[in-house]
Amino acid sequence: MRTDRNSFFYREVPMDIVQTDLWGYGEGPLIIAGPCSAESEEQLMAIAVALKATGRVHLFRAGLWKPRSRPSSFAGEGFRALGWLKRVKEETGLPVTVEVASPEHAIACLEAGIDAVWLGARTVSNPFSVDAIATALHGATIPVMVKNPLSPDLELWVGAIERIYSSGIRKIAAVHRGFTPYDKSRYRNLPKWELAIELRSRIPSLPVICDPSHMSGRASLVPETAQKALDMNMAGLMIEVHNDPLHALSDRDQQLDPEAFRKMMQELHFRISTSGDIGFINHLEELRNRIDSIDHQLIGLLASRMRISEEMGEFKCRNGVTVFQLERWLEILESRTQHGISEGLDNEFVGRVIRIIHEESIRCQDEVMKRLRSAGACPPPGCEGEKQ
Ligand code: PEP
Ligand code: MN
Repeated sequence: MRTDRNSFFYREVPMDIVQTDLWGYGEGPLIIAGPCSAESEEQLMAIAVALKATGRVHLFRAGLWKPRSRPSSFAGEGFRALGWLKRVKEETGLPVTVEVASPEHAIACLEAGIDAVWLGARTVSNPFSVDAIATALHGATIPVMVKNPLSPDLELWVGAIERIYSSGIRKIAAVHRGFTPYDKSRYRNLPKWELAIELRSRIPSLPVICDPSHMSGRASLVPETAQKALDMNMAGLMIEVHNDPLHALSDRDQQLDPEAFRKMMQELHFRISTSGDIGFINHLEELRNRIDSIDHQLIGLLASRMRISEEMGEFKCRNGVTVFQLERWLEILESRTQHGISEGLDNEFVGRVIRIIHEESIRCQDEVMKRLRSAGACPPPGCEGEKQ
């Protein structure tokens, strides 16, 4: 079995990470909410009081140092806003979390008693910055959240988590906030749920939170994206909330006002990942048994199909025929897709499955041909040449 880093079966060295419901903020998915940026003491207090009143927030967020694409944009209120967050904490009792982008930020947050910090997407994209912050956090016991880097580079994301872990931090969560799209898209930052799942498979002890605000880029899309995250069994949500989104100094299109946040929290379905109900457990078990049986048959059928491919490879080779024939492939793709549609399957899905099976079939036939050719069992001309 392949176990290199590109393999589905690859696992990192086990990490001893503390789960979010043991961070001391309460049970269930961790809900982090607050403005994109701290703009003034009054603005922070107004949002914090409104969020506290919803009773749904575990951790209050605010950005003090804003990594903006253009130098003319609002860059945050910086160090002086740490005192405002202290007041939020004292007056509402909400623990507070801040984005850190340099060792100076991290040290200032530790000194100011900030409860948790996170590394933003741009910072995580630079291993030097992550190293410097990890060194500054050495010996700290606060939770550290690591957003995904700007590009869908799992190694970079895992690397940042490893760097934080190496500094002794054990309360760690990853934050899936989506990836910069090249073309215009429905999302500001494209979700890659399969990448988040791969991260969880690689580091099973790592909680993964979702930031539907930066993914969506517009307030109207946030609830739908948040629901999707909960359906994917994410460990929490980070939501941007502003008391006056239209006049926010950063990310104004995506921030919810406190009322929209309250409504969303009321309407979201917080499903449980497992239930103790015996009827539920039995029915789930029965459905899983049926899936297991179908998968068993699928694997058996695939193995039979590949054995025929090998036989075909040998037959083609002995007769000097090429492995790949375009008309046959187009006919397979068309007929299987039509069959799939008539069975109610998505045509894209059927296309993807057939492509993978066909690729493997070509690989098997190729292997057979190579073997036979080196054994001198195939006529030399005709086996080479027009293969595509
Ligand atoms: C933020 O949380 O406000 C932020 C800048 O996020 P990201 O790093 O995901 O862009
Ligand atoms: Mn923001």
